[in-house]
Amino acid sequence: NKKVILKDYVSGFPKESDMNIVDSTITLKIPEGSNDVVLLKNLYLSCDPYMRTLMSDPENSINPRAYTPKSPIAGYGVSKVLESTHKDYKEGELVWGLTNWEEYSLIHAAQIHFKIEHTDVPLSYYTGILGMPGMTAYSGFFEVGSPKKGENVFVSAASGAVGQLVGQFAKLHGCYVVGSAGSKEKVDLLKNKFGYDEAINYKEEQDLDAALKRYFPDGIDIYFENVGGKTLDAVLLNMKIHGRIPVCGMISQYNLTQHEGVTNLAHLIYKRIRMQGFVVVDYYHLYAKFLEFVLPHIREGKVVYVEDIAEGLEKGPAALVGIFKGQNVGKQVLVVARE
Ligand code: NDP
Repeated sequence: NKKVILKDYVSGFPKESDMNIVDSTITLKIPEGSNDVVLLKNLYLSCDPYMRTLMSDPENSINPRAYTPKSPIAGYGVSKVLESTHKDYKEGELVWGLTNWEEYSLIHAAQIHFKIEHTDVPLSYYTGILGMPGMTAYSGFFEVGSPKKGENVFVSAASGAVGQLVGQFAKLHGCYVVGSAGSKEKVDLLKNKFGYDEAINYKEEQDLDAALKRYFPDGIDIYFENVGGKTLDAVLLNMKIHGRIPVCGMISQYNLTQHEGVTNLAHLIYKRIRMQGFVVVDYYHLYAKFLEFVLPHIREGKVVYVEDIAEGLEKGPAALVGIFKGQNVGKQVLVVARE
């Protein structure tokens, strides 16, 4: 059973060498007397930015939870049930939830989030558009952002797993949408594939405030925050009165030991901006409603999804570290096995 092991707590930017691959022989059988557990064959694993926060020593991390050094890392995945001692799961069923970065995992059934009922779409989508990132875009935009038709929306990390969906949901809702991303290829995707009205390559803009003023002469109603730091600072100057900022993530800050100062936060006060953090797990009760909304759009090609696929568990560390360098174009997925 191949596994990806975290060697020790990480400080600063994560490196491939912070992890290693180990292999061991296991018996594919649930041990006698283990109740409510499920033996899984992991198929697709999700590379997600929050996994970096779990690599830090919890003493100095924004996340109170952490991986255990010398153990496999864990995250969202799509898996097949090989055996189960829990009444809800049977051999052969497909599920998505939290699993370990290894070929086979014995997990507590409570770690499974949902059974996969619709298999006419790619299974890997349950690590992205039909899984946690999809729910994040949906709940963050509609529930936290409270969008209205015609509003001005700005999205950062706009071509990524979450961002590409926020942009498309905002367009479906009748908003004007601008996204920022870190390369020409991504900017092209934003405009030509995801239907953003305009796109900014933030690495090429000397003055982000001026760029935002160019695209939002009347200001921004909703900023879907994925990156934090300098982008947030420039956005705050351009928010409209009663604007909303669903704070989804701040990836630019996850690897810094000294966070960049945000100097324009006082704009929240007079502009009555609602800046609200949220965590996707609080919205999983909406999953059935979300599927009802998104599946027809996927089937009709009205919502598209771009994935960046790495093949083989050995590629896991490089794929995971790559998202902090912007190497992923679309949702970063790791394929362990296809069936
Ligand atoms: P992405 O697929 O967007 O991958 C991360 C992207 O972030 C990279 O491709 C890169 O794109 C960009 N990035 C990396 N470093 C920086 C930097 N220093 N400054 C600006 N951009 C950077 O990831 P996800 O869509 O999975 O996640 C997006 C955000 O959503 C993250 O902040 C994540 O933590 C958050 N999140 C929050 C959840 C919640 O429940 N609140 C749930 C899921 C995700 P580029 O080339 O454009 O720089």
